[in-house]
Amino acid sequence: MTHPSLSRRRLLQLSCASLAAAPWLGSSAWASASLPRKAIGMPFPGVQLPASPQPAPSEGSVGFAVMGLGGYGLGRVMPALARAERCHVAAVVSGNPEKAARAAAAYGLPDDAIYSYDNFDAIADDDRVEAVYIVLPSGLHADWTEKSFAAGKHVLCEKPMALTSAECERMIAAGQQAGKQLMIAYRCHFEPYNLRAMELMREGAVGAIRDIETFQQYRMGPTSPAENWRVVRSLAGGGPLEDYGIYGLQAALYLSGEMPSSLRAETVQPANDPRFSEIFASVRTEMQFPSGATARLFTSYDTNPGRNRVAVAGADGLLEMEPATGYGGQHMTLTRGDASETLAPGDPGVQFHLQCDHLAEVIRDGKELIVPGEMGLRDVRLMEAIYRSAAAGETVAV
Ligand code: NAD
Repeated sequence: MTHPSLSRRRLLQLSCASLAAAPWLGSSAWASASLPRKAIGMPFPGVQLPASPQPAPSEGSVGFAVMGLGGYGLGRVMPALARAERCHVAAVVSGNPEKAARAAAAYGLPDDAIYSYDNFDAIADDDRVEAVYIVLPSGLHADWTEKSFAAGKHVLCEKPMALTSAECERMIAAGQQAGKQLMIAYRCHFEPYNLRAMELMREGAVGAIRDIETFQQYRMGPTSPAENWRVVRSLAGGGPLEDYGIYGLQAALYLSGEMPSSLRAETVQPANDPRFSEIFASVRTEMQFPSGATARLFTSYDTNPGRNRVAVAGADGLLEMEPATGYGGQHMTLTRGDASETLAPGDPGVQFHLQCDHLAEVIRDGKELIVPGEMGLRDVRLMEAIYRSAAAGETVAV
């Protein structure tokens, strides 16, 4: 997330800190020092590369170009593609040639499978690549999804799909025009605990749902828009909601099986904190569903200890997941009457590669996409409604 080893950025950050201490300069001083809303190369993140190249792809395996070699791209996406049965890493796209070369070598890719943001269009002629996995800062998802479709590739795009519904609509239209798939990387739809929770709700395990409670929160270390895209409005939107709270929002929808009819939200943006000069620190939302159920969602970059909880209270029981939506370590209990049972439906670690294999089965077998661009658009529209409600201080109809 932050790159303290970058001495030039460190200097920039320090100069920003002194600018912040001079309030007469106003907030534009921050804006000029923020990371740009264009694809650039950042240093190698603190992740381990594999000791041996990925296995040879199976017959009919879908080749992916991984775009954005950051913490998640190198740390989770590339290992997942290497582990997947029906896909593999076929290329990398990066603005940092040294980092790209290291990643390519570790995965056994030839030099001509390394692309930069400047020569990316040439990927159109590269038959080894059928899909692009976009792992860039969220504000860059829309432009690079459009470029990937223009190059004739399918797209697997990280969450949040984009920062505005207009961007999401552009992405969907570009996919339709290209005749290619647009999948959003909502990994919990492939994770055994969340899948079991969805099943339990469909079976009525807690009776009629009365209330859903979600917490996605942690305390972000000292940082600023000069060094960390997660606190830059043009790259991260409002901040914690798009990045982390989206898991609670998604869970409220896939566990209730409903869309809210109205919602009311509040945002918090403390003054004089470089982390929150452009984004919110916390977002609190209450939703009403047509069934009468409610959902209360809290997300924050400013609470310690962190929390990742989803709970569903029903007329006949309580389902609790904590941690609920992480990379691993999920814990789930179901309480009915005096009886409480702990459920362990499988290894959460499979979510990353099963997600990639899903796009392969959509492309190869014509299976229906379960997490399409339309779902990403739906969620971005809800987030827009959340910010509208918070700005107006009113309940808004959805
Ligand atoms: P990161 O900061 O670790 O990496 C971002 C990458 O984008 C870096 O390789 C960087 O070089 C590149 N980049 C290109 N232009 C940039 C710019 N203008 N500013 C900063 N970096 C730029 O971030 P990350 O944690 O890997 O997140 C990337 C995407 O993945 C985001 O959309 C995020 O929401 C998503 N993500 C998803 C999960 C998940 O569990 N599904 C987890 C983490 C991140």
